[in-house]
Amino acid sequence: MREVGPFAVEHERIPVQGDKAIIMGMSHRENGVSRAPFQHLNMGFHVGDDGQDVIVNRQKFAEWLHIPLETWIGAEQVHGNHVVNVGAEDVGRGARSIETAIQGTDGMYTNHTGILLTACFADCVPLYFYHKDDTIVGLAHAGWRGTTSEIAGQIINGFNSKLGIHPKDIHAVIGPSIQSCCYEVDDRVISAVQAIDGLSPERVYQSNQAGKYQMSLQALNRMILEKYGVPSEQIRVSKVCTSCHTDLLYSHRKENGHTGRMLSYIGIVGGE
Ligand SMILES: [Zn+2]
Repeated sequence: MREVGPFAVEHERIPVQGDKAIIMGMSHRENGVSRAPFQHLNMGFHVGDDGQDVIVNRQKFAEWLHIPLETWIGAEQVHGNHVVNVGAEDVGRGARSIETAIQGTDGMYTNHTGILLTACFADCVPLYFYHKDDTIVGLAHAGWRGTTSEIAGQIINGFNSKLGIHPKDIHAVIGPSIQSCCYEVDDRVISAVQAIDGLSPERVYQSNQAGKYQMSLQALNRMILEKYGVPSEQIRVSKVCTSCHTDLLYSHRKENGHTGRMLSYIGIVGGE
């Protein structure tokens, strides 16, 4: 792993125009107050954990980031491909409960400074998007359904149509998630992969001894990003497999569905 801090893995701060910066990363499971099977820093309200513990964890994380919980925005996350351009009017939605989250949505983007886009993960792929000069950021939740319904392309289209950003100027990061070493899928998933328009995705999966397939959601998302025009050299992929690292990260698959959630986050800070 590139970096493990007290609360997050692969946290980075990218200086941008003026005195602003983009911050992004993923929380890990240490230094929180949740009890088993959510130990310790569970960020998900929807998994059966004590909601008050989740708020305490989120507040600890907000203090560490120096970004108040009141400025976070979260979405419901339904494994779809609907994305929303969020702004000041959405601030605080989903921060303290799932009920106030943006419904029926798996991706968000914004050009507002001082907003933290957040989403919860335990194996699914976090996709981070940014444009340095125009300080625009995006975040998407991509399991196999979101990936094969091309949620990455929905964000890129949104950057382009709503904010006038050309795909060649977009940077993308494919964050910690379950990798092909641990991600076995069946024909139903492979059919959805093969149905994606304009790709030759055969190299993202391999049949295994169980008659199923080991698949790389990371490689598939990279192909989709490139299909929508993001330059290959502007796409970075985390090597961290969530299922291989349950000491530090939550894995829905490895922990049989009884576990917590990490928080992926991206936002523009400073300059106010
Ligand atoms: Zn693995």
